[in-house]
Amino acid sequence: MASPYFDADGETAPREILEQRQLTRARRVIEAALAHGAFYQQKLRSAGVVSASDVSSLDDLRRLPFTTKAELIADQAAHPPFGSRLTEPVEHYVRLHQTSGTTGRPLRIVDTDESWDWWLRCWGYIYRGAAVGPGDRLFAAFSFGPFIGFWSGFEGARLVGAMRIPGGGQTTEQRIQQIFDLGATVLMSTPTYALRMAETARSMGADLRASPIRKGIHAGEPGASIPSTRAQLEEAWGMEVFDHPGMTEVGPWGFECLEHAGVHLLESEYIFEVLDPTSGKPGDEGELIITNLGRGANPVIRYRTGDRVRLTREPCGCGRTFRRIPGGVIGRIDDMLIVRGVNVFPSAIENIVRRFDDVHEFTVELYREHEMDEMEICLETARGDGDGLARAIAIQVHVDLGFRPRVSVAPAGTLPRFELKARRVFDHRS
Ligand SMILES: [Zn+2]
Repeated sequence: MASPYFDADGETAPREILEQRQLTRARRVIEAALAHGAFYQQKLRSAGVVSASDVSSLDDLRRLPFTTKAELIADQAAHPPFGSRLTEPVEHYVRLHQTSGTTGRPLRIVDTDESWDWWLRCWGYIYRGAAVGPGDRLFAAFSFGPFIGFWSGFEGARLVGAMRIPGGGQTTEQRIQQIFDLGATVLMSTPTYALRMAETARSMGADLRASPIRKGIHAGEPGASIPSTRAQLEEAWGMEVFDHPGMTEVGPWGFECLEHAGVHLLESEYIFEVLDPTSGKPGDEGELIITNLGRGANPVIRYRTGDRVRLTREPCGCGRTFRRIPGGVIGRIDDMLIVRGVNVFPSAIENIVRRFDDVHEFTVELYREHEMDEMEICLETARGDGDGLARAIAIQVHVDLGFRPRVSVAPAGTLPRFELKARRVFDHRS
């Protein structure tokens, strides 16, 4: 049997050694960033860092300025087309991708051969974590456009000896047919799209539980870590579900192991910090800050992900020493909704709605009425008795979250469907 690890020495290293290695590699990144690329040269020098030796501990690193997406986008606008962050001559870069652009102007990311190899290596941890390897056939239900999406995962599967099947340029029906025809064993998609495939399969009369798919690796949204969404995925496909968080700006940074005890942080390739959003001090719950260690050609130092996570230091049964975030990414810091004084992440609403199998799709709208916050959840359902379902969901939200939303039922097929990142929440209160 293959090793459960991609890099046993790195994945099981004692904390002290892990941190020593992180520091060594972080200093290499800082050295490269100081040598070339105006963006980090200015940022680091303004923080008093003129040589890598100025960062002699991880505490020193934690005193460096943050990097934000807004800064990266502004830099790219000021220095088109790739920005001033690159540390190598532009002709060394062989690959371009971009962010999905769901939250504004897409950010372009270019990689050298070496930094692209690093992306692929990161996927080695993800696949071994899910025990995916030789004999597996990966079906990537993904459009293969400029968005990074599953591009790196698709190529990275080479490192664990799995066959890769591109699912671009196909309808949902064609993808489902391909999965059966080609004997695909692993589905790669957003959680939303995997559920949409399940809905389409039902209308085709196909039983996905009888398909050869046995595992799903899901990225792009936190759904695979939302308990009721995960349960729906497992139920519809009869597969084992793995959450994988990653970011175009940073790289693929987290993976789930066979213990399903939350998402492991890929600590041999990144430095992670969790900061309390109010105090800005290190804590166990708050915003995730990431520094990548293997991408000196396109460095990111102390990147504010905007993702809220909860960290645990409890060891994992798999033997990895990488820390975990149970529940994956809880939500985007700036997506947190305040409804009648209650703090609610959209994932909490999804977790309630997805407990009801008959809900195919939903949206959430927020508005002010008579100086009060109102939430309306709109459902699409296969069932005739939409009203009973709407009432049940309203009650459940009230019980779990402490306020009562309006719940309405939309005609079948009228709510938007998504292949990449779903957008279901619309806040009309300004
Ligand atoms: Zn584990």
